[in-house]
Amino acid sequence: MEMTNEKAKVLIIGSGPAGYTAAIYAARANLKPVLYTGGEPGGQLTTTNDVENFPGYPEGINGPAMMMDLQKQAERFGTEVRFGVATSVDFSGYPHKVIVDEKHEITAEAVIIATGASAKYLGLESEKKLSGKGVSACAVCDGFFYKDMEVALVGGGDAAAEEATYLANLCLVVHMIVRRDELRASRIMQERVFKTKNITMHWNTNVLEVLGNEEVEGIKVINNKTQNISEIPIKGFFLAIGHNPNTEIFKGQLELDETGYIIVEKGTSRTNVEGVFATGDAADKVYRQAVTAAGTGCMGALDAEKFLAARELEEVIK
Ligand code: NAP
Repeated sequence: MEMTNEKAKVLIIGSGPAGYTAAIYAARANLKPVLYTGGEPGGQLTTTNDVENFPGYPEGINGPAMMMDLQKQAERFGTEVRFGVATSVDFSGYPHKVIVDEKHEITAEAVIIATGASAKYLGLESEKKLSGKGVSACAVCDGFFYKDMEVALVGGGDAAAEEATYLANLCLVVHMIVRRDELRASRIMQERVFKTKNITMHWNTNVLEVLGNEEVEGIKVINNKTQNISEIPIKGFFLAIGHNPNTEIFKGQLELDETGYIIVEKGTSRTNVEGVFATGDAADKVYRQAVTAAGTGCMGALDAEKFLAARELEEVIK
């Protein structure tokens, strides 16, 4: 198939809060951004029912509805939003090249990456079926819905330890499901978990099934030492077994850390390649919140604007 091509001033890859916020700022600065949504338009928030921690929505808002609002706001100022997946990039020269759906090449003066990260799931059929109906990979987002109820959380790293103590503040009991006989989390985080009275540890335990039809009612677990199978009645099932940044296509093109997150210059969205900016969860393994993603999306657009203005000035002086 023949490759088509076009030029863009600012190309935004990704349509979560970071991508759309970058688009709002870039469009209002008259940079005529083109935004490709990626395979999951709206990003991770489209798998969340109620968002109650994004400032400005006193009654909370449905995740997909919020993303539609962000899209409309970006389009209102002239962002061209297109469905398509960036399949490869070439940042070795300038302008930068991005291939979409393996068939359309865009030559862009500035690229803002907002490809996000994906939470890891166990891969159980029942877990998928009950996603958004009691199964969540974000305790901070969804913990509140299980106030004074029993919940379970899978994982043994720092994120799991942090989220278990967060949930313990809200919930009656937190069943922490750990596949080995120790936590991977740092000593201080472990101590916090062990000191929290309403966290019940389930060591050497794997989840076989999430129980329930319309909503989570419990989990079936196996002790992998004794092979004993049992059920734990719960209302909320949380995963904290890590995230994968969606940065595969940038390997060898941008500086990434050992876990694949894009490295940006501290306090900016600048990557190691001039004219390429990274925003949102693809460059953030610490906060991972919609509001922080939106904040760095804004930084991406402002950094891109500054970069383009400096280049234009250089051209004039030449
Ligand atoms: P992580 O450190 O990779 O831990 C993942 C945990 O999930 C491990 O306990 C792992 O078990 C478990 N796990 C993975 N796959 C599983 C599966 N299929 N079934 C059951 N359990 C599974 O990930 P993270 O906790 O998200 O942290 C990521 C990075 O961010 C780390 O560098 C962490 O230190 C950092 N972080 C720091 C803080 C903080 O300092 N406040 C907070 C959050 C995150 P095994 O141990 O058996 O492999």
